[in-house]
Amino acid sequence: MLLRRSSVAHKLVSSSVAGRSSLFKLGGCSLFASQTAALPLLPDAMPSAREEYADINWDELGFGLQPTDYMFSAKCTAEEGFSRGELNRYGNIELSPSAGVLNYGQGLFEGLKAFRSEDSGGLLLFRPEENAKRLQMGAERLLMPSPSVELFLDAVKKTVLANRRWVPPPGKGALYLRPLLLGTGAVLGLAPAPEYTFLVYASPVGNYFKEGLSPIHLMIGDGVYRATPGGAGDVKTIANYAPVLKAQREAKRKGFTEVLFLDSVNNRYLEEASSCNVFVVKDNVIATPATRGTILPGVTRKSMIHLARNLGYQQVEERLVSVDELADADEVFCTGTAVVVAPVGSITYKDKRFEYQTGSKTTGQRLYSALTGIQMGRLPDDMDWMVEID
Ligand SMILES: *Cc1c(COP(=O)(O)O)cnc(C)c1O
Repeated sequence: MLLRRSSVAHKLVSSSVAGRSSLFKLGGCSLFASQTAALPLLPDAMPSAREEYADINWDELGFGLQPTDYMFSAKCTAEEGFSRGELNRYGNIELSPSAGVLNYGQGLFEGLKAFRSEDSGGLLLFRPEENAKRLQMGAERLLMPSPSVELFLDAVKKTVLANRRWVPPPGKGALYLRPLLLGTGAVLGLAPAPEYTFLVYASPVGNYFKEGLSPIHLMIGDGVYRATPGGAGDVKTIANYAPVLKAQREAKRKGFTEVLFLDSVNNRYLEEASSCNVFVVKDNVIATPATRGTILPGVTRKSMIHLARNLGYQQVEERLVSVDELADADEVFCTGTAVVVAPVGSITYKDKRFEYQTGSKTTGQRLYSALTGIQMGRLPDDMDWMVEID
């Protein structure tokens, strides 16, 4: 395992980590069974929780799961609504085999980051209310009850505090928070689940793509689409991701980093990649596909549009962006919580390869510096985007 620990309390943690081989234990319907019950509930009861930093190599963080100490969970039933929720040791959960999420994909996820401020060393969240509201929109789409913004913020803050030794040192990455809203009640026929679980876990992360901050290379999806009008492409439902794995693998086999999807009606307008939004720059005009039901409205996308206008770009457009515009664009970049701003070095469309400017003088790089400066507490947060945790 990745964890190196010595004291008795540490061994307790390691043994629970070792037992965590599969995500879900099937067979019962109570959550957080025996494995977690015997362990101390409060972070302060564990000596390790008082360490400033967990004992891992902070210089080698990628975007992989590094288990942390605690996760938050709250249940929701029709009679009682959402419980206040509680922290439990991070570990497997038990689900009924007929849970709505397992059988019919009634599930949503979110993704946001906590940073250690370069300035004060305090812990900061980036625009968490945006994620709370987006989860509510998704919940409405999938006929699920959603946690209030207040419960969402409380859950995220508690998860960060309980795992604070896993928040990377300034400049080394962030603690990625993964809220889940799952239909955990049992159903057989197609129907909304009778019970829901709101869960938040965390993992420290570094760069998303193995390229790091170097350019990524995209391939336009051929006859494969991420979303359709009237579908659920604009919400972060877990059901939108497994269907793109095959296209993603094909692209990787051909040496590309990711797939860039076109719209499914005209096969002509850019939508986004499987987990990030896209921007195209030509003569200082910045364009990004308008969100009309088939594109995930990214918090980073929205922030980029705002920052670009603040930086003095006169034309920042949300509109249809045709694949034809790729032929003479100056620059292309992708945005998302996980990728931040990824410069695109090339896009390949029907055997034609278009190349773009990358590097320190680009619009993407300026926006990257503006965004990460605010996130790390290095630049003034005039928009009040950062939420301090303690
Ligand atoms: C999460 C996600 C994004 C990026 O959204 P952010 O809020 O910026 O993280 C973009 N596209 C898809 C398909 C996503 O799932």
